[in-house]
Amino acid sequence: MELDEFRHGLDRWLDEHAGELVAGYPGVGSLDQQMEQLSKVKRLAYDAGWMRWGWAERVGGLGGSTLLRAYLGEALTTRELVESGIYSLTEVLAPTMIDYARPELAAAMVPRLLRGDETWCQGFSEPGTGSNLASLTCRATRHDDGWRVTGQKVWTSLAQYAHRCVLLTRTGSLESAHKGITALFVDMDTPGITVRPIETMHGVEEFCEVFFDDVAVPDERTLGEEGQGWSVAMDLLPYERSTSLWHRAAFLHRRLRRLLETAPPGAVDPASLGEVTQLLYAFRARSRATQHRLARGERLGAETSIDKVLLATTEQAVFDLVADVIPGEITISDDPLTERWRREYLYSRAASIYGGSAEIQRNIIARRLLDLGDDR
Ligand SMILES: Cc1cc2nc3c(=O)[nH]c(=O)nc-3n(C[C@H](O)[C@H](O)[C@H](O)COP(=O)(O)OP(=O)(O)OC[C@H]3O[C@@H](n4cnc5c(N)ncnc54)[C@H](O)[C@@H]3O)c2cc1C
Repeated sequence: MELDEFRHGLDRWLDEHAGELVAGYPGVGSLDQQMEQLSKVKRLAYDAGWMRWGWAERVGGLGGSTLLRAYLGEALTTRELVESGIYSLTEVLAPTMIDYARPELAAAMVPRLLRGDETWCQGFSEPGTGSNLASLTCRATRHDDGWRVTGQKVWTSLAQYAHRCVLLTRTGSLESAHKGITALFVDMDTPGITVRPIETMHGVEEFCEVFFDDVAVPDERTLGEEGQGWSVAMDLLPYERSTSLWHRAAFLHRRLRRLLETAPPGAVDPASLGEVTQLLYAFRARSRATQHRLARGERLGAETSIDKVLLATTEQAVFDLVADVIPGEITISDDPLTERWRREYLYSRAASIYGGSAEIQRNIIARRLLDLGDDR
């Protein structure tokens, strides 16, 4: 299906099914409510075919360009049917699963994620290992029938809801750094896994500590080969900075428009609005080019760090403008509808941390794209 046909068909379907698709709660809702809403919307969109376009037939998709997925997430976000951050985890995790899992595993698992029957999480960061991912210590050791995993992850988004985890483990010596890492696809109900949610500063238990105590993982759950975990991570991180960021741009566009619709007369300084608007459009233009490169089948890499820097700058600029225009909503309002602005303002501070911090992205841009030398 071509993009234009997809857009018109999807928009019509969204209009016709608006009553079924709409969230059954006021405002932004709790995380439990958002997760339920996400499953519902994905299920309806999958069963109607929309959620399957842009994915390969071998994983339950209907084929077609990845641009179809970019538009689907944009349309669902713009209509406020899903929260873009949690919706886009599919875009972060499924492409790498397809690239690296055994074909029969990807064929069995990816449709469950697309249909919203399952949630997956990304177990990369550890206490002491975030930016310096190659130093991770969560250990997997060989066992007769596969692996045994012992260690800890942290900041694992939505782990308390997750059925599976894309987990990076240390299988070589610590000195082997990025060469001694193996990626596993772990069932979160395996005995030995403990999940402890952590509340973020915006008041939501969005991420978790995850403890692994001698957790058995069968061999067929290895993503790629033993010792190939770094390649898996380097495959995944550009996906984290591509289609999901296009969806985030749609969210920011929507919220900026909402601010302008509701701001008291004269409250918006035109120069500040101009600055934010140009940041948003520059970010969208960049992300649009990335969507087209992905659609042409190009392999994404370090250049997606530019998209991530632009996202973080734009998201924080949008919500800085919100804080200037309606400071009362950010600081003191308890109204559940307007409280949303406070939550979003506070969460915008995380944009320069999640998916790789702004400093690290700038290091990558300097070293790998501009050839400005090593930072050590
Ligand atoms: C909302 C949110 C959701 C997240 N979800 C997940 C998830 O689902 N799964 C997951 O695995 N992780 C997740 N993370 C973790 C995230 O990937 C890490 O927080 C991030 O990579 C930074 O790592 P760190 O927190 O260990 O900070 P550190 O690496 O300790 O960095 C601390 C500070 O030092 C700076 N710094 C570090 N090294 C350098 C350097 N070489 N040069 C210049 N500056 C440097 C950093 O930029 C940062 O400002 C999430 C984080 C957030 C905020």
